[in-house]
Amino acid sequence: MRPTALSCIAALVLSLSAHAAEPLAAVERGIVPVASWGGTPADAGKAKRHAISQITLHHQGEPFKPGTDPQAYLRRLQSWSRTTKGWLDIPYHYVIDLDGRIYEARRIDFAGDTNTEYDPTGHALIEVVGNFEEVEPNQQQLDAVVDLMALLARKYKVSLDDIKSHRDHSDKTVCPGANLYRYVKEDYFRHKVALRLAGEQANTR
Ligand SMILES: [Zn+2]
Repeated sequence: MRPTALSCIAALVLSLSAHAAEPLAAVERGIVPVASWGGTPADAGKAKRHAISQITLHHQGEPFKPGTDPQAYLRRLQSWSRTTKGWLDIPYHYVIDLDGRIYEARRIDFAGDTNTEYDPTGHALIEVVGNFEEVEPNQQQLDAVVDLMALLARKYKVSLDDIKSHRDHSDKTVCPGANLYRYVKEDYFRHKVALRLAGEQANTR
């Protein structure tokens, strides 16, 4: 028997809902901890502690060539942040690579750092590798941003209105790059996060 168009659509819907149904707890378990990528903990005594009330998206702002080892990139970023910039740690709390894998960076309860004038205290900072002034984000990266934003929004009770990007807080940057910012501006992330959170509620009923 030949597959009908309807059965193809049914299979597609099933596979889409299978992805959407992955619990946020599984997303959280999949986050690569600092020790696993070879990072070292920050000096807690020098950390500024904060409570998360916003989620703010960034890009790397430099090309990330396919085949680059994301773990080596993270180690270089941590070293540069501490020695060149004199920061406590990587300025962001999470980094997303080309495959949509999520890495833990700065501890979430330590306020981040920035080269621009906004105060990142209270912000959960997410960096996606690449320069989105030049390239488009891939679907794995977009899915990972949604997963991570949904996880953080649920955990810290962040309102959808407080899911934004760097340039929404600073006139001095194009970060997260025009091709990623489009998804912020057009409410793609807020919409997907809302669906993700609604799905999560339905799953736990
Ligand atoms: Zn930024």
